[in-house]
Amino acid sequence: MNAIHTIDDYEPFIGKEAVRRIKAKARPLHDLHVMHMNSTYYGGGVSQILASLTLLMNSLGIETGWRVVHGPPDFFSVTKKFHNALQGAEINLTDRKKEIYERVVYENAVRNHLDHDVVFVHDPQPLPLITHYRKKSPWVWRCHLDLTAPNREVWNYLVPFIEKYDAIVLSCGEYRLDLKRPQVFFTPGIDPFSIVNRELSESAIDERLEHYGIPTDLPLVVQISRFDHWKDPVGVIKAFEMARKEEECTLVLVGNVATDDPEGAEVYRSLLAHRSERVIVMSVQDGALVNALQRRAAVVLQKSLREGFGLTVSEAMWKGAAVIGGNVGGIRYQIRDGETGFLVSSVDEAAKRIVQLLRDPDLRKQLGHAARERVRENFLITRTVEQYLDLIASFEP
Ligand code: UDP
Repeated sequence: MNAIHTIDDYEPFIGKEAVRRIKAKARPLHDLHVMHMNSTYYGGGVSQILASLTLLMNSLGIETGWRVVHGPPDFFSVTKKFHNALQGAEINLTDRKKEIYERVVYENAVRNHLDHDVVFVHDPQPLPLITHYRKKSPWVWRCHLDLTAPNREVWNYLVPFIEKYDAIVLSCGEYRLDLKRPQVFFTPGIDPFSIVNRELSESAIDERLEHYGIPTDLPLVVQISRFDHWKDPVGVIKAFEMARKEEECTLVLVGNVATDDPEGAEVYRSLLAHRSERVIVMSVQDGALVNALQRRAAVVLQKSLREGFGLTVSEAMWKGAAVIGGNVGGIRYQIRDGETGFLVSSVDEAAKRIVQLLRDPDLRKQLGHAARERVRENFLITRTVEQYLDLIASFEP
């Protein structure tokens, strides 16, 4: 059986002093019971974060649980529409949608007895849970979305739920809500020991790529994302098609479909028409493949149109990849344009940066090196753990 990593294991990345500090912050919180609620155990960044965060918190002596709201497909169809609307899309907000949403969350409230010292509710799916408890402890809404320009109608509908929370955590200062609730800003972080991020030998990388028949004769341009329009897979294909007129390369678009995202399968199917010998589109659930691709890619793209944070960006940067990211949301916090990657705002710009990077291995190396340092200093899960500890401690009497 694999051992669960403890904070001491992270010392090579963050140093002795940070380990000591985190342990000291955890000590006064040892007896607490904390619960995280979200809407999927698999797929998407929140489940990746919670998988590492909850184990690490337990290893620090804080009893931290993780539960998932359950619901039928029409519930997740409604919540995905809310998700899209909160990132700025149009929605037809009918009473039927509200009824499905509130009824299924109520059913989950009946099943889940949340009598914890602190409850963290992630994203809009379980948001109304709070209305069904006689609350005796702090509840925190942790929203991971890009809230730069939310649809007002959905926003106004959700505000009464949000206002019941004791605090709100958002990934970036730009997402500050016009609400009189305490707001805290911190980004998530990546776990260097997860399957997606742990060290891989060259032969293990070869083995994964061969297993999926991914050709390595030409440089790889890679984007790894849930199949979601916000990730702009069509823009990635267009940028690649422009770039390959000047530099030979292969595009690999790999994605998975989160269990709370009913639109994913359709987005995936819509991309299949673009497949060719040099455009590989794959829906797979294999963290080791993600790891191998981020390590072997000449260029990693994350050309999102909206992005709450974008763990895939830090994951690739951690591996020393040259990353081109959409100039939006949380990606801007990770990539310093021209220093730790490139930020782009159009297909044209993305294509130019792909060509530039393919032609300049020294630049790739230089950006990749700075990128890894940036992640080490700012975007590892240990820093996220510390920020959760600070937040929990702030509630103590
Ligand atoms: N991921 C994965 N396989 C895939 C696509 C994504 O394991 O095919 C992981 C990815 O490595 C990252 C997470 O899913 O850890 C996606 O998080 P991100 O914040 O980038 O985007 P989200 O899906 O939450 O919008």
